[in-house]
Amino acid sequence: MNMIIMGPPGSGKGTQASRIAEVYGVPAVSTGDMLREAISNGTQRGLEAKAFMDKGELVPDQVVIDIVKERLAEADAQQGFLLDGFPRSAVQAESLGETLAGAGKKIDLVINVAVPDDEIIRRLSRRRVCPKCNAVYHLDHQPPKVAGMCDKCGADVVQRNDDNETTIAHRLEVYRQNSEPLIEYYRNMGLLVEVPGTKTIDEVFGEIRAHIEGKL
Ligand code: ADP
Ligand code: ZN
Repeated sequence: MNMIIMGPPGSGKGTQASRIAEVYGVPAVSTGDMLREAISNGTQRGLEAKAFMDKGELVPDQVVIDIVKERLAEADAQQGFLLDGFPRSAVQAESLGETLAGAGKKIDLVINVAVPDDEIIRRLSRRRVCPKCNAVYHLDHQPPKVAGMCDKCGADVVQRNDDNETTIAHRLEVYRQNSEPLIEYYRNMGLLVEVPGTKTIDEVFGEIRAHIEGKL
């Protein structure tokens, strides 16, 4: 099954994406993770993306479109995939549709995780991430077992460059402007299901699961 998970920054979609990937055996394709990896590897793409990401702006469409195209052409994505953080603009959504159509494929399900603004700001400013394995933590709700250390790989957890209050506010604006309209776009295509991101991680996953099972 080919899926997309959408939601505002801090909606918990990355956490849900890992669970879905694990349970349904599809790769979670996160443009945010791939871009951060490009930055830490010092590639040309990474250099190009960093300035936009640090400001909370969208990276230019063509950059992410190319990354996703390459990733979806890999062997492990042929039996299904889950896109996390892509598409984030109308141009990206149209491009994805065309690329898939060209390969005789389509999107089967779009999951939207909804969370109100005040909750998003609370979550993002307390978020910590593992730069090595991309695990996500929250200082209050899901702290690492040993303070400052990733449960999964032992690396030091860090605060992302773009998880500061000014940039968070800007990311929310960018989301409203560019990405939120995609909810309507996919609803009109009959592909959208919505889950409230304010419940517990397990409860949200339970709802997502029910929607996926309904499509299998
Ligand atoms: P979040 O959802 O918490 O904002 P992500 O890791 O998905 O975190 O994205 C972080 C940043 O990476 C975005 O603010 C943006 O600069 C860049 N980015 C990720 N995906 C895309 C995309 N599809 N198009 C443009 N920029 C993107
Ligand atoms: Zn880790």
